[in-house]
Amino acid sequence: MTRFPTEVDVAIVGSGPAGATYARVLSEHAPHLRVAVFEAGPLISDPPGTHVRNIRDAEARAEAQRRCEGPRPSRPASTDTMDDYARSANRLQRPGTFLLDSGWEEFPAAAMSTNVGGMGAHWTGACPRPGESEIIDFLPDLDAWLTEAERLLGVSAEALAGAPLAGEVRRRLAAALDADRSADRRVRPMPLAVRREPDGHLRWAGADVVFGGFRDIHPDALVTRVLLDGDTGNGDTGNGDTGNGDTVSGVRVRAGGAEHDVRARVVVVAADSLRTPQVLHASGVRPRALGRYLNDQPQIVYAVRLRDIPPSAAHTGISGVSWVPFTDAHPFHGQVMQLDASPVPFAGEIVPGSIVGLGWFCAKDLQESDRVAFSDDEVDDYGMPAIRIHYRLTERDLANLETAEKEIRQAAEALGDPLDDQPPLRFPNGASLHYQGSVRMGQADDGTSVCGPDSQVWGVRGLYVAGNGVIPTATACNPTLTAVALAVGGALSIAKEY
Ligand code: FAD
Repeated sequence: MTRFPTEVDVAIVGSGPAGATYARVLSEHAPHLRVAVFEAGPLISDPPGTHVRNIRDAEARAEAQRRCEGPRPSRPASTDTMDDYARSANRLQRPGTFLLDSGWEEFPAAAMSTNVGGMGAHWTGACPRPGESEIIDFLPDLDAWLTEAERLLGVSAEALAGAPLAGEVRRRLAAALDADRSADRRVRPMPLAVRREPDGHLRWAGADVVFGGFRDIHPDALVTRVLLDGDTGNGDTGNGDTGNGDTVSGVRVRAGGAEHDVRARVVVVAADSLRTPQVLHASGVRPRALGRYLNDQPQIVYAVRLRDIPPSAAHTGISGVSWVPFTDAHPFHGQVMQLDASPVPFAGEIVPGSIVGLGWFCAKDLQESDRVAFSDDEVDDYGMPAIRIHYRLTERDLANLETAEKEIRQAAEALGDPLDDQPPLRFPNGASLHYQGSVRMGQADDGTSVCGPDSQVWGVRGLYVAGNGVIPTATACNPTLTAVALAVGGALSIAKEY
């Protein structure tokens, strides 16, 4: 951690995987640039951005998770009651995250994390590549950026591939589902940002792995606005509401009870899909598409107990994760996780790896009217414009969910027997935690996108956006790898220009 700067070349807002990618790529490709990261939340682990699962002491881990859950407690004090709380509230709060306090009614599970490392300190680490219509087709370098993103996150499909019964799960799924899939879209181990340490422990990648040796990170430093040339600092950009034709000149940071202006030639806002547009809105940068085309992946879950399994599988402390890739014919991303414990009680011992949770994520039918909107009168707990989410599932979404339910049952039937007589469970809007589209990328400045292919905001020189919100396609796969890939592309273009 270094002293608070007054001037940098590149100011990065937010320290999750997307912000960390800009810091790392710039430190490797343009080491002459002074880069600093400003993060609203606290430092909870060392090295900065470490995944909380790597904190081995359970109490210390629970305390670290709590410190990421925003400025006001939104769940009961005891972590034991988390499940009961989530069920009763039907909002699915996960440890390390907090929920919107108001404006969430159409998107009940909308969640955020505020800490060094962002949600990347809490994630599952699934890093599938997008396929078929999930792919952004106007980016010729996307494949290379995805490969670089896999390097930065340390992605491997091997770490859990040999977990008890994982091979058996994949064989059964493949026999049932692979017939009409191309070779690269068949059932396989899930690529994960996790590696095995020499002592046998698993190490989950957080933003720490992406940051590498980069350390110019400023915790507890909320960026309240991006400053633009000729900016009066009172919300008037001098160019009406769009910010069009401006150049960034820095950021205003609230830290230690005071406000500081930090001059910068480039500003990258990587403050998650709900708060990146919030920072732009607060700065008077309000292109038409800002906050619109918001999409989360409608999600269905089901669980089975494997049938006819060899009784001898031994505990190894690891659980398999398998991947049923998205295809245009089956527009669902299947994440099949062998659970450490059963969600329903069983008599007798459970064979390791034999309880399997299936999660099917659907691609959303994108709508301009699905949006995160901001108030000019009310503020949130951070003093930023209050968020309200407008969101609905279309007829096409509902039909897609019906098909997803049929296909998840087909996969489940191939594996074993349902745990109880309940149908597959539909999660509430926002539960996927994969919010996309709110600062989406486009090929042209035609009112349907916020930034161009290099992630630079249309019409505002030096202002970049990062994170899942940049993804313009309707994806069903977990988005972080793609968001990191787009950040690689943006950072390379900054390195080239400056
Ligand atoms: P974040 O990681 O959310 O970081 C944004 C940061 O910006 C935060 O630290 C926030 O405090 C900061 N910030 C916000 N506003 C300001 C401001 N005004 N000033 C300064 N800082 C600000 N994704 C996958 O792809 N695969 C998975 O398997 C997966 N599993 C998940 C499981 C769980 C339980 C959770 C919680 C998430 C999961 N995700 C998964 C989602 C994944 O964590 C996110 O996609 C990823 O972290 C997004 O990275 P980001 O850098 O864009 O945003």
